[in-house]
Amino acid sequence: MATQRIIDFLATRRPTGPCLVVDLDVVRDNYHAFEKALPESRIYYAVKANPAPEILRLLAGLGSSFDTASVAEIEMAMDAGAPAERISYGNTIKKERDIARAYELGIRLFAVDCVEEVEKVARVAPGSRVFCRVLTDGEGAEWPLSRKFGCVPAMAVDVLRHASRLGLDAYGVSFHVGSQQTDLTAWDKALGDAKAVFARLAEEGITLRMVNMGGGFPTRYLKDVPSAQAYGQAIFEALSRHFGNRLPETIIEPGRGMVGNAGVIKSEVVLISKKADNDNVRWVYLDIGKFGGLAETMDEAIRYPIVTERDGDEKSPCVLAGPTCDSADVLYEKTPYPLPLSLTIGDEVLIEGTGAYTTTYSAVAFNGFEPLRSYVI
Ligand SMILES: *Cc1c(COP(=O)(O)O)cnc(C)c1O
Repeated sequence: MATQRIIDFLATRRPTGPCLVVDLDVVRDNYHAFEKALPESRIYYAVKANPAPEILRLLAGLGSSFDTASVAEIEMAMDAGAPAERISYGNTIKKERDIARAYELGIRLFAVDCVEEVEKVARVAPGSRVFCRVLTDGEGAEWPLSRKFGCVPAMAVDVLRHASRLGLDAYGVSFHVGSQQTDLTAWDKALGDAKAVFARLAEEGITLRMVNMGGGFPTRYLKDVPSAQAYGQAIFEALSRHFGNRLPETIIEPGRGMVGNAGVIKSEVVLISKKADNDNVRWVYLDIGKFGGLAETMDEAIRYPIVTERDGDEKSPCVLAGPTCDSADVLYEKTPYPLPLSLTIGDEVLIEGTGAYTTTYSAVAFNGFEPLRSYVI
């Protein structure tokens, strides 16, 4: 997964300290794979996955739209060349003054999941399109999004009816099946729920037109994942099953699936030690940990492939930890990570599949460690 361009960059530039290197060619390939897999859907890249200006510029140039969660993300997408019509304010939790600012910037597409949020949008972004997010169970996802966002489908009906009454354009329904979703059937149930909301409101003369099918498309870590093509097929079949030949407009919001496999983190082994002479598990401390950008190792949810120059040698289980003085800064302990017995202090390791959700999760200066540097090539 470290492309030749990334390997060459690291060999010639030899950056010191941990850093992420992202290969734009891979992002471009991913964008085209999504386009091909779901040709009828519009792609709204989830900016939070990796907001590097080079990535946003590339995607804006390819015709992508953008899913944003704050005024700052809206401005980043616009600076990259995306017009306001191609930007959604997809966070269901927004300050009213931020909605007003987004409206001033030309944004007309907003996510809601309750009448309280609808009222804010109606007050300061009159006439805008809104879509209501429904809950999903997140089953099958390695990074589920729980109950924080969305409401039950029956409530979505009330929310969108309320929006319509207040003069907003009740545009559709959204969901997110959970991040790193490897179960191809996960979209089916959510699309069934979306269809139920469409049908119920149609009885009242409110015609919804759009389903936002969110993100969740996985990137390959240690296990193989289905291809974009397989996801496209499963989603198209589920759409047809629930909506027949009257398919709504659809949106997808890939984050991880767009940039995850495009990035590799270069790190260095700082220390290898044991807690007792007779321990067979070694502790390996890297110069990056949970606070340097690898936050998704929380509960050991995301297990990154780690490549060393000694991978041909015999391996034994290691606890893998970061360099900070917080005992939570342990990456893998419940399920120890096999690393070469010959691994040595000072060795370089590559942590693959780290293009998404790393730079943005990196702390500013915990223990004086600088935030994760990133090079986009
Ligand atoms: C984070 C997020 C995404 C991207 O999810 P991935 O699993 O990374 O594809 C899409 N939509 C919304 C609303 C999000 O919050």
